[in-house]
Amino acid sequence: MNPKAAKASDPARETLLGHGITPTAQRVRVAQLLFACDRHLTADQVIAALRASGSRVSKATVYNTLNLFARKGLLRALNFDPERCSFDSNTRPHYHLHDVETGELMDVPPDDVVFSRTPALPPGMENLGVDVVFRVRRQA
Ligand SMILES: [Zn+2]
Repeated sequence: MNPKAAKASDPARETLLGHGITPTAQRVRVAQLLFACDRHLTADQVIAALRASGSRVSKATVYNTLNLFARKGLLRALNFDPERCSFDSNTRPHYHLHDVETGELMDVPPDDVVFSRTPALPPGMENLGVDVVFRVRRQA
């Protein structure tokens, strides 16, 4: 573990502070892992990656941290797979391909999908977004 990982100038730490999240050392390590690039990771994958880099983190801490980040808008929780929730560090509008055999999620740019018609919303409702998931698998 890098003892300077949570120093004041760390961009992950600044991101947490900017979203009203106390930047504990473990939260900063999770943020560094997830916010380095756009990626989709399950809690178990986050735990495995942190442990592989020498961090000693508890499952409960990682789950709590991921859910906190999702509540604060830093991650999108994707519940396409009933077996596991994935967390998406790309919070810009986009859709997904979901490989049902491997669980892998791939981003689809919003311009690649065109809707010819969308439903009228009930009075007083506002649209918060659209999730589109293409379930795919390798051809046999
Ligand atoms: Zn995504």
